[in-house]
Amino acid sequence: MLLYNSLTREKEVFRTAEPGKVKMYTCGPTVYHYAHIGNLRTYIMEDVLEKYLSFSGYDVLRIMNITDVGHLTSDGDTGDDKMLKGAKREHKSVMEIAQFYTDAFFADCEKLRIQRPAVIQPATGCIPEFIEAVQKLLGKGYAYEAGGNVYFDTAKLDQYYRFHDFKEEDLEVGVREGVGADTNKRNKADFVLWFTKSKFDDQELKWQSPWGMGYPGWHIECSCIGMKYAGETLDIHCGGVDNMFPHHTNEIAQSEALLGHAWCPHWFHVLHLNDASGKMSKSKGEFLTVSLLEQKGYSPMAYRFFCLQSHYRKSLVFSWENMDNAQAAYDKLIAKIRPLLDAQGEPDAAKLDTLLGGFREAMDNDLNTAQGITVLYDVLKSDADAATKRAAIAAIDTVLSIGLLESAQAMTDSEQNQEIPAEVLALVEARKEARKAKDFAKADAIRDEITALGWSIRETRQGTEITKL
Ligand SMILES: [Zn+2]
Repeated sequence: MLLYNSLTREKEVFRTAEPGKVKMYTCGPTVYHYAHIGNLRTYIMEDVLEKYLSFSGYDVLRIMNITDVGHLTSDGDTGDDKMLKGAKREHKSVMEIAQFYTDAFFADCEKLRIQRPAVIQPATGCIPEFIEAVQKLLGKGYAYEAGGNVYFDTAKLDQYYRFHDFKEEDLEVGVREGVGADTNKRNKADFVLWFTKSKFDDQELKWQSPWGMGYPGWHIECSCIGMKYAGETLDIHCGGVDNMFPHHTNEIAQSEALLGHAWCPHWFHVLHLNDASGKMSKSKGEFLTVSLLEQKGYSPMAYRFFCLQSHYRKSLVFSWENMDNAQAAYDKLIAKIRPLLDAQGEPDAAKLDTLLGGFREAMDNDLNTAQGITVLYDVLKSDADAATKRAAIAAIDTVLSIGLLESAQAMTDSEQNQEIPAEVLALVEARKEARKAKDFAKADAIRDEITALGWSIRETRQGTEITKL
């Protein structure tokens, strides 16, 4: 498989240290808020990568951290503490916030058919590992204490910048967002490994350390969690393009300083989801979540389909019009797949292999999911019999995961189930009223009652779709 490597800036044949096994690390969410669909684009593409590697015969160990401490609003260690900000906003404890938004994140993942990684590790569960790593870095002379904090000394490295050709003078580390420069830093690019003296007097989560009560910086967690579960090397490290600098640059710096050798040879970065004006911002307009998409009548599968229609290394432009088009194209595709549900007999093995060959060719070329979707239409148009087509679609959907056969079945069921009990219809009406009154808690509770009666409802642009579970 050819896969672009951000480190070498080239498409390369993807290789692993141990044949047939992939150790894959993905930076997880900072759980202080609902996930933005732009961030979820990254997780969708990483999920497709993991599933395609499995489809290609690899045994994949995927590791993901959950950031529940140490991440400031600027990735360069300045600004507010994100978790504290979330806790203050909602008058809850930091751990309550972390639990709530971790659950919300995985609920969104489930709706988007993003598989749970084999290892999910909250940062607060690895404090002894972080302290040990910081001690080692101090011992090796790669870190220093200043003003109560421990910093990584980037001047100690032959090469600090890995993904960009930055010049130090171009960096504005410490002076963004109206925050004064951190005068403790010896070099502009130095970053915090451990905070003891911070401007957050009300920091809730603190641990005893050789440097006093404090908490870890954000970057150290990914290095330590990666090493805890994958040992001294990874095969591939993934994240959003905004993680390249400083986060991934810092991860490489401290990991290689710790290990004394190269850490991860392949880096996979997913580009941004933008609106027409450029970068999508949380402050502008509506905060886009999976729930908001659903409230507006789009299915999470249509959003996943929308993401897959574009290459992961291209910015994707979000607009409601684009979502309308994606939903319409998805529904049309499902309608075309429906007749295959009744297919009889066994698939033709040779033909199936040819059809899947087209899919492999697309995905082997730098995970070209847009081409992979085109293959679905090729399968539908091919002269293969229905059973072979259905088998090809099922196989391709183990990777794309856009619920093709399930949605086709749901569409069929909803047409066949005209006999909806009056009790269910009454609840559906009550739920409509609750939604109109914006009482979403009540609406959710009614949805649960409907589910308990064995029915499922979904808001679509055409109205409420009621299906038997
Ligand atoms: Zn990370």
